[in-house]
Amino acid sequence: MHNGRAMTFHVLTTFPGMFSGFLGETMMKRGIEAGIVHVNLVNIREHATDKHKTTDDTPYGGGPGMVMKVEPIFNVLKALKKAPSSKHQISNERIVLLSPRGKQFTQQIAQEYAKLESLTLICGRYEGVDQRVADHLADEELSIGPYILSGGEVAAMAVMEAVARLVPGFLGNPESLREESFSAKGQRAEARENQRALWAKAQGLGPTEYPQFTKPADFHGWNVPDVLLSGDHAEIERWRKKHSRAV
Ligand code: SAH
Repeated sequence: MHNGRAMTFHVLTTFPGMFSGFLGETMMKRGIEAGIVHVNLVNIREHATDKHKTTDDTPYGGGPGMVMKVEPIFNVLKALKKAPSSKHQISNERIVLLSPRGKQFTQQIAQEYAKLESLTLICGRYEGVDQRVADHLADEELSIGPYILSGGEVAAMAVMEAVARLVPGFLGNPESLREESFSAKGQRAEARENQRALWAKAQGLGPTEYPQFTKPADFHGWNVPDVLLSGDHAEIERWRKKHSRAV
């Protein structure tokens, strides 16, 4: 069992089906089953009030394409009790509009989000989202990188994946692993050291991204560095430090 602090992601999208593979496999699936993360997928279309369930319309001032309407998004947030009051004074939740114009997502932001009780992600489509969503409903706009996607769904998945693995318990519990007993003292110290390194790495702390290799040692003449096969832990440690870079 985990330490009891579950995190909820609310995802507002017009294409909820895009998330089924992502949420139904490996880490996210396990995290959800273990109750460490909850994902509440909301189809924006179901909150449109007109009979055609319209979520987009033509832009004022003219121009190509369609713009996502403010009203259905407002309705979802209202149903979630997150509207009309936005710009959260209460710091344990955040409403984020995925947008190529937002601030750049980083590991630091992932760490900040992982401390929240809930993170609401609004996925745009088409030419974008009525600016009033950014101005009055979202706390911030977030971009996953300097390029344009067709929609916010893949961006929301990237954010959820980076954040979820930082929620305590998601990657297994390092505290309990640390407590495992080994017969030899040296081994115990080494296990502790490894656990700390793994934990630091998961948190994105420190320059721990060194190159990794696994079997075979020789693949068609592409060889694993000798030092990694040497069994000399001090040398291996030095090599890894030298080849590390910050996340
Ligand atoms: N016409 C807009 C692009 C809209 S792309 C412009 O030039 O700014 C449609 C939607 O995809 C956006 O509303 C946003 O939710 C999502 N999106 C596109 N690129 C993104 C990025 N780099 N990061 C996060 N979301 C993005």
